[in-house]
Amino acid sequence: MNQLTNTQTRDVEALLHPYTNARQVRLDGAHVIERGEGVRVFDQAGKGYIEGMAGLWCCGLGFGDAEVADAAREQYGKLPYYHLFGGRSHEPAIELAEKIKDLAPDMARVIYQSSGSEANDTQIKLVWYMNNALGRPEKKKIISRKKAYHGVTIVSASLTGLPYNHRDFDLPVDGIKHTSTPHFWREGKPGETEAEFAKRMAEDLEALIIAEGPETVAAFIAEPVMGAGGVIIPPAGYFPAIAAVCKKYDVHMIADEVITGFGRTGEWFGSDTLEMPRNSMSLAKQLTAGYAPLSAVAMDSRMAEAIESNSGTIGTFGHGFTYGGHPVSCAVGAKVLDIYRERDIVGQVKKIAPLFATKLNAYKDHPLVGEVRALGLVGALELTPDGTATPFEQPGKVGAKLGTELLARGVILRSIGDSMAFCPPMIITEAEIEEMFAPMEEALDATYAWGKA
Ligand code: PLP
Repeated sequence: MNQLTNTQTRDVEALLHPYTNARQVRLDGAHVIERGEGVRVFDQAGKGYIEGMAGLWCCGLGFGDAEVADAAREQYGKLPYYHLFGGRSHEPAIELAEKIKDLAPDMARVIYQSSGSEANDTQIKLVWYMNNALGRPEKKKIISRKKAYHGVTIVSASLTGLPYNHRDFDLPVDGIKHTSTPHFWREGKPGETEAEFAKRMAEDLEALIIAEGPETVAAFIAEPVMGAGGVIIPPAGYFPAIAAVCKKYDVHMIADEVITGFGRTGEWFGSDTLEMPRNSMSLAKQLTAGYAPLSAVAMDSRMAEAIESNSGTIGTFGHGFTYGGHPVSCAVGAKVLDIYRERDIVGQVKKIAPLFATKLNAYKDHPLVGEVRALGLVGALELTPDGTATPFEQPGKVGAKLGTELLARGVILRSIGDSMAFCPPMIITEAEIEEMFAPMEEALDATYAWGKA
């Protein structure tokens, strides 16, 4: 138990922290962050850290970008709030939707929300509405994947495929099913090639669709790279094989680009990099680089036309959020997308990705490291007791210990079970990558020694 500072005492007396062991934080005290600059944040004690996770996978431009702050300030002065209900509109919402369509020309319309979870909830309502409008109301089931992360609202948490998000909440709700995780290193059979594995994943999906009844299966949702499930990058051929099955049974494909959107994988969208066809996309996080809450669903013309066909019972798509498309968030998003283009953020990620991968791969032979995963500027080191795929008997403890060791050495990363995830701001320089990895060997060794003690 630590002696809590005054702020830490006020914190635990006033706040319930999301995704936090409430009892533990009362003993240890929260880590109070005060300010940020570039790829760094500083805590109340004045100590600086490299933010190797861009906050929660969102701060692609790092912290303290003055141009983005100016865009927000300007919009606050002009129109601090308006909505898009009942045919109202405002310029920032229109401008941002146009910019999204420029980056994803296969998308016909954009509808806004505030969070990734709300975007995925909206996706499901859009799919249900579309299938009602298309005269096939029985086609409503949604297939997600084990270890997927799609959010925490009742439906998006149901889409999420992590026991942790289901266990205490009696989820998933009916009609949401989960197929296999495309993690070759962990799930591949002895002697199986990546191509055979990808084919088997598609066969698993097809078997599930057939078992459920193809006429009842509406959509398949996937993150191009699974993020909060541990940064799982599917093998080449996986999405094309999956897409062929979806096409065969007319299953709408939802790309959850909440983490992978806007340059993270070295292209504008993860679905471009991973060859994932998409009928609609969930966008959030780097849409505003984390500077304002905003999410969006972008959809293809079939879905847009079904909604615009006005076939709902009252002729209205009865869904929307007070703050969906908030003008300040949209102005921030439009500025952020301009900056991504002006500063060639996709080029920057492509340029720095080889160094990032080399740095991660340097730990491949460390006795604690089972697998190294990297794509663009997202990656993970998966820790195992003996370097094989066999997991720890008590999952999560060693990963958490490594996180603590790194924090003490000035680097914030996120342990997801025993995978140490990396998702630094996309503006990170080569020198800052070196700095982020500088304490890694020592932190891994200290964690290893602790595990053996
Ligand atoms: N989808 C993905 C892929 C995510 O990673 C997340 C959050 O991490 C979400 C959805 C949910 O977003 P939010 O936390 O904004 O609701």
